[in-house]
Amino acid sequence: MIPFDLTYHRPSSISEAVQLFEQIQKQGKTPLYYNGGTEIITLSRLNLVFADAVIDIKHIPECRVLDRKQNELTLGAALSLTTIEEANPFPLLAKAASEVADHTARNQITLGGNVCGQIFYRETVLPLLLADCDVVIAGKSGLRQHSIHEVFDQHIRLEPGEFLVQIKVDPIYTTMPHIHIKRRKQGNVGYPLVTVSMIKKERDLRVAFSGVCPFPFRSQAVEEQLNARHLPIETRIVRALQQLPEPILDDVEGSAEYRLFVLKNILTDMLIALEEG
Ligand SMILES: Cc1cc2nc3c(=O)[nH]c(=O)nc-3n(C[C@H](O)[C@H](O)[C@H](O)COP(=O)(O)OP(=O)(O)OC[C@H]3O[C@@H](n4cnc5c(N)ncnc54)[C@H](O)[C@@H]3O)c2cc1C
Repeated sequence: MIPFDLTYHRPSSISEAVQLFEQIQKQGKTPLYYNGGTEIITLSRLNLVFADAVIDIKHIPECRVLDRKQNELTLGAALSLTTIEEANPFPLLAKAASEVADHTARNQITLGGNVCGQIFYRETVLPLLLADCDVVIAGKSGLRQHSIHEVFDQHIRLEPGEFLVQIKVDPIYTTMPHIHIKRRKQGNVGYPLVTVSMIKKERDLRVAFSGVCPFPFRSQAVEEQLNARHLPIETRIVRALQQLPEPILDDVEGSAEYRLFVLKNILTDMLIALEEG
């Protein structure tokens, strides 16, 4: 049970959602955009989230789009992770989505919720960072479209009242050689100990991480070291690990030392597979 009262709103358009947010805020209340609702419900039971009103964006047509055009793949923020898995428009993203939580939870969890949520793993953002995708954001002044690198730095940077509507991917990224590896403390379901996504664009490797630091990231400094092909793989990985941002996670899922050990092995396997492939 949610330990506070809230009102539920179901707008059918982007402008209605934004106006509702503003109106509720003007009444001195706390509105929250609601997508799959899994995190809002889980964290509010723990008193880590509070809202007077939730604005459900799942019924806004633009948020439900899954459109493959020759030059652009558009993914609505309200698509569930199982929809993305089953439609498989971007295999690396489908693989990342398929490793989040369990199948029942993935029927509810949305792409937008995973990218914008507080729970810091946000594993579906890794393929999006590698693909230099664009994000479409709605707010008081209408829609704005930006490269994900301009708005996502550890977490999505939205202005009050804004929400993520869509993600746009250049289809060339959906066919590149790729690997996604998730290691957990135990079993096949659960938060990552370490998750790594890698693609090969022409000769260059791109890599993004979750579970290594308390935020997902892609790092140019790490990629530069991994792509220094004149050096042996082991040296490149040692140098890449020296470029990781801080802090390295050290918690119940695993110590920092163990995480780095696992990461080193994953990177070795990935480099061998993608450079030989
Ligand atoms: C049982 C369980 C297991 C999990 N396991 C994993 C895991 O293995 N890996 C992983 O990465 N994550 C994991 N998570 C985290 C989970 O993916 C996120 O909490 C979840 O994705 C939230 O999605 P949702 O659609 O339910 O979001 P909601 O609960 O609806 O929203 C979550 C937050 O994001 C905001 N939000 C949602 N959509 C938008 C939008 N379009 N624009 C702006 N803000 C928005 C909401 O306001 C809210 O603050 C797990 C969560 C649960 C409950």
